[in-house]
Amino acid sequence: MKTIKVHNFSAGPGILPEEVLRQASEACINFDDLNLSLLEISHRSKNFEAVMEESTTLVKELLDLDDSYKILFLGGGASLQFAMVPYNLLRDGGTAGYVNTGVWASKAIKEARLIGNTQVVASSEDKKFNYIPKGFGIPTTLDYLHVTSNNTIYGTQLKKFPTAATLVCDMSSDIFSRKIDGKKFGLIYAGAQKNMGPAGATMVAVKESLLGKVNRPMLSMMDYRVHIKGESMYNTPPVFPIYVSLLTLRWLRNNGGIEWIERVNQQKADALYTEIDRNSLFFGTAAKEDRSNMNVTFVMHKPELEPEFDQLWKSANISGIRGHRDVGGYRASLYNAMPLQSVQVLIDVMKDFEKKFA
Ligand SMILES: *Cc1c(COP(=O)(O)O)cnc(C)c1O
Repeated sequence: MKTIKVHNFSAGPGILPEEVLRQASEACINFDDLNLSLLEISHRSKNFEAVMEESTTLVKELLDLDDSYKILFLGGGASLQFAMVPYNLLRDGGTAGYVNTGVWASKAIKEARLIGNTQVVASSEDKKFNYIPKGFGIPTTLDYLHVTSNNTIYGTQLKKFPTAATLVCDMSSDIFSRKIDGKKFGLIYAGAQKNMGPAGATMVAVKESLLGKVNRPMLSMMDYRVHIKGESMYNTPPVFPIYVSLLTLRWLRNNGGIEWIERVNQQKADALYTEIDRNSLFFGTAAKEDRSNMNVTFVMHKPELEPEFDQLWKSANISGIRGHRDVGGYRASLYNAMPLQSVQVLIDVMKDFEKKFA
């Protein structure tokens, strides 16, 4: 029986609950007591259809969505959604608005530009994306406004969503981490591997009434309506990532749902930010009011001490806190499955480091 030996702060693919990993490995051998592996049965079997149905129901429940939304589980990662969103929603002669809050948003903008008129309505590029733009004007004529709820690389998070007739959101790195009113969004998408499951599945929640308004001839695999009609089984869906995502969603619901996890996530983030602000050797890189509860980015006043710090956290069995190459320093990802005890271990290492080197 594995107890937590390694404290996994990886930014993605990220930590999953231990019980989920156990259930997932069991399903690889004997799924639903069929004496068959989940990996070797038809996606059209009754048993897998039940997985799809329950996943859809749980996503709707946890995001507060009604039946005007369709839930899809697709391949291609969040990056394919950068293209599918404009392909399905951006009309000939229409304009899509984007808020540029970092690398992922920039990649979404790049794809949208290939498909139609794209306007960047706000950007935080001037300060290396260390804050969330606020108070900008939003043209009322946009086909949609695209935002990124959590900027995984910079450690910034939208605390208040802008109001737009059609709001589209990349929630890859904070989906199911806090209470949101899903009905405010026209479309939500998230790659599974940050906060939901393994890489390979992407969840899309789309208000069906937004579809069918573009004139372009649609490639089948790129057309949300084709996937809706096929109930995410137009082609073989990523069965294993979908199943493990379902296990994670069950884990979340059974432990108290979004209210519970939001409280836990707040505790973890508060504890770590408090230490970063208190500790004389570190400082946070994101603007305080925009700090992410999922990815905590911090650097050292004296970067030449990094090797010493690295040694300390490695010997405390901490893994995955080196910062993204664009930001440097450190990034501790506190996804849903990360226990408060692991955050406390990191905090203790930071205190110890200060005692030794300040
Ligand atoms: C990781 C990430 C992506 C990219 O996801 P892929 O599944 O690798 O395409 C996109 N957006 C955000 C916010 C991310 O954190």
